[in-house]
Amino acid sequence: MIIFYICIFFIGAALASFINATLYRIEKEFKWKALLTQNSHCEECEHPLSWIDLLPVLGFLINKGRCRYCNSKVNIYYPISEFILGTILQKR
Ligand SMILES: [Zn+2]
Repeated sequence: MIIFYICIFFIGAALASFINATLYRIEKEFKWKALLTQNSHCEECEHPLSWIDLLPVLGFLINKGRCRYCNSKVNIYYPISEFILGTILQKR
């Protein structure tokens, strides 16, 4: 049963991650096709992020809140929003 709750948590966290990325891209006036197809990258050094960096909440913890390529700080808003949506979905 615990596996089920962990799966639901990561579905919620991944949804928050997707919403954050899409809002960021709309704000930066990405072209419509790029909203869904372009790979995520660091805001500072623009290095493409690997799959480990993209893991909701865990990517932030593994990299200790910093970009693994340029060592710049990652906004704490991202893991917090992922954690909150993952937790909210679990309560349903
Ligand atoms: Zn970077």
